[in-house]
Amino acid sequence: MSSKKTVITTCTRDCPNACGLLATVEDGRLTGLAGNPDHPLTRGVACVKAARYVKRVYNPERVTHPMLRRGGRWVRAGWDEVLDLVAERLKTFASESGTESILYYQGYGERTALKLLNKYFFNLFGGVTTLRGSLCGGTGQASQNLDLGQRISHDPLDHSHSQAMILWARNPVSTNISLTAIARDIRGRGGSVLLIDPVRSKSAVLADHHIAPRPGGDVFLAMAAAKLVLAAGAEDREFLARHAVGVEAYLDILSGFSVDDLCRRAGVSRGEAELLAETLMARKPASILLGWGLHRHEYAHYGIRAIDALAAICGNLGVPGGGVSQGFEEYGPYDQRLWGDDLNPPRRTLLLPVIGREILAATDPPIRMIYVTAANPLCMAPNTAAVAEAFGKAEFVVYSGHTMDDTSDFAHVFLPATTFLEETDVMASYGHNYVGPVNPAIAPVGQCKSEFRMFYELAARFPFADRFRKSEEQWLRELCAPVWEQGGDPDTLTKEAFRLDAPMVPYADKVFPTPSGKFQFLTDFDPSHIPDPDPDYPYRLLTIAPHGYICSERTMADHEPLPVVRLAASEAARRGLEHGRPVMVKSPLGQAMATLRVEEGLRPDVLAADRGGWTKAGHGLNRLTRDLASRVGNGTPYYETAVTVCPVPKDGPAGRRILVVQHSDRAPGGDFVKGLARLGALPITVAPARGDALPASPEGFDALVVLGGPQHAYDDAASPHFPALLDLMRAFDAARRPVAGICLGAQLLARAHGGRTWPMGRLEFGFTALAATAAGKADPVLGAALPLPRLMEFHEDSFDLPPGAVPLVTGQDCPSQCFRVGAASYGFQFHLEVDSVIVSDWIKLFRKGDMDTYAPYREVYGETYFAELGADLPVLVAESQEFCRRVVRTWLALT
Ligand code: SF4
Repeated sequence: MSSKKTVITTCTRDCPNACGLLATVEDGRLTGLAGNPDHPLTRGVACVKAARYVKRVYNPERVTHPMLRRGGRWVRAGWDEVLDLVAERLKTFASESGTESILYYQGYGERTALKLLNKYFFNLFGGVTTLRGSLCGGTGQASQNLDLGQRISHDPLDHSHSQAMILWARNPVSTNISLTAIARDIRGRGGSVLLIDPVRSKSAVLADHHIAPRPGGDVFLAMAAAKLVLAAGAEDREFLARHAVGVEAYLDILSGFSVDDLCRRAGVSRGEAELLAETLMARKPASILLGWGLHRHEYAHYGIRAIDALAAICGNLGVPGGGVSQGFEEYGPYDQRLWGDDLNPPRRTLLLPVIGREILAATDPPIRMIYVTAANPLCMAPNTAAVAEAFGKAEFVVYSGHTMDDTSDFAHVFLPATTFLEETDVMASYGHNYVGPVNPAIAPVGQCKSEFRMFYELAARFPFADRFRKSEEQWLRELCAPVWEQGGDPDTLTKEAFRLDAPMVPYADKVFPTPSGKFQFLTDFDPSHIPDPDPDYPYRLLTIAPHGYICSERTMADHEPLPVVRLAASEAARRGLEHGRPVMVKSPLGQAMATLRVEEGLRPDVLAADRGGWTKAGHGLNRLTRDLASRVGNGTPYYETAVTVCPVPKDGPAGRRILVVQHSDRAPGGDFVKGLARLGALPITVAPARGDALPASPEGFDALVVLGGPQHAYDDAASPHFPALLDLMRAFDAARRPVAGICLGAQLLARAHGGRTWPMGRLEFGFTALAATAAGKADPVLGAALPLPRLMEFHEDSFDLPPGAVPLVTGQDCPSQCFRVGAASYGFQFHLEVDSVIVSDWIKLFRKGDMDTYAPYREVYGETYFAELGADLPVLVAESQEFCRRVVRTWLALT
């Protein structure tokens, strides 16, 4: 009998909304994830990323078994084996070099109550090197602490008292969805919403006006608006006289600039500064919400403190519907003594914003082991090259994660982590005042474990086991002691969110927890810290949180061939750059290829892109970003990266036009064609089976790729375009323009050069071990791409090598796997182009019996076979993709 249930839980991803969610589970399988209408704040909303997360839970790229790297390759292992190894390494490094030779790199991917215990484990162990600083909001918090004593934000529901909302670099539509209803409500009541952001984000739909200061120019805009308010005599004199210090010094700073000068420095018109000032004067109270882009500058505290000052001058602090809200303490509701920081003398910390260089510079002792949880530093930390060098030098890297992402490539042990849908926990938010239940909707997928369970089992290998090994429920009772003291109770917190005892309106008594008890104005300001753009690198690279993804939480198959960068139309025209074409983005640190999107209305001094794309997928824009720490709060000033954009140099494969002949929608070009695009080539796909005409000659193309499909290479009656295609393949080769044939394409290539193709009478399906021949090892395309991983097969026909062909790869069941023929033609029987989506589609197609032609083979490949294939798929696909990348590079070099 089938079963269906709904489980109350809370989204634990790196997002301020921490939505209350309802997970739908049918027959033990997660089938839906939607907002919980009973959550008092998030009220049934959930973003597009929630629904998408269901797919992530069951994604074929998700690693669901522990793995060890052996002989350079990943192999599946049991939990006992990997945890024994991790424990042995911890003990060895600690005894040889001290516990500080181990770096615990705890990321921000999930910040639940039980995650506090990860650090407790390492403190019980003796205390290891940890991180300080943040990749995100640390600057804002530290800056507001200077002004307000302690950063405390208005409860989001208090914004419903606002007459105006200023979204200062906050993008609720993409990153804080609960605020969208409140913003609409303000406008519905005749109030006003302003968006201030160098880039017109999706939240422009919420706003009456959009003001786009130059990146880092926010301080000047806030000062200009303050001067206008003061000039109008609209300042809150009582607040300034009785509840603030440093007023005179701040007014002195302002007096050093004219409004016009400030507007010029901010990169806005005087009218825009007046609009901001008038909104604040006419619409009281006004809530100002700070976004995270504002934090990504070296002197971000100037901007944040000037915005706080503007709110103070306008009388918007400590009033309902007012305030400058930056964020909330996501670890605030817990008993932080359970971190165990008092167990050891303070241990070494490394500065996260410059983590690559910090690891490399650590000598006393050097970092020998790195243990990473809830982070993908090889993608998300700035200056990827330095991070890669640092991780590459570590002797042992343990990685707890979901997919074979950039960081996994540097790991020696992969610990497959559960998602929050498989966990028991409690989740607080950095966007509101509620803690919510995290209940397991489904059993852990495969052999995945929660981080808590990993450390629980690891602890059993140490003398402190008894101090760590309590159940989730026991620990949550202890961790949440402050919640119980505020009136929460453990049972209710498994069913509904609990509002913490936090003010709706902070500082309502106008008393601030500063040394003076008053609001403290910014009193030291040097405008030269915010210099004009560098003519050699005139654009600030803004890597912005995308609408559809959280950070790097994606899969290889999710990636477009290249990252998209957005440039103002005027700048593109000035540089002769075309929309949709590859361009080279250069910073002093390096360069990256990207696809250009020309955008009307974008500021001419920015280059905008989504953040979080993987480096191994050709994205990874942190290859370009500078690693430095913000002057206040040890934040990461990603937006201090200045870049330029150029055409892709013509001296390499970039710009080569590659004709791609596709035979089936279910056999797309995958990573082979994406790989071409990642090198700047221009694949042009035709599908003769759908009626596309084949070009009559190679004219206008530099190379030819012929893909696979279910057709038979010997069957011209079913595929009447084959004779013309064979002519074309010969013509390309005669013109010394490279040809690559994959599967059916390889069979056609053999036929084109005089080889016979024939049915094998059986099917070869799945990832197969193959061997390179001596000629293969010496071949300029294949030899440079070795070693050979196991590669995907899906064919029931084979071929005799044509006269003069050189066999490069052989297989046991089907000998003809790869050959070279003619001047520059390569046949690949195996599907080196596959990604996880293509393979999964083929597995589904095969298992469900969607294609009658494969019916006779179904009993050969049973459910056990597919279960094993599924368990190995993340590694098989990742290794195949790496091989494909190498082949594409060497093959394209023939053009
Ligand atoms: S990612 Fe954010 S907005 Fe989306 S469901 Fe999770 S908490 Fe809510």
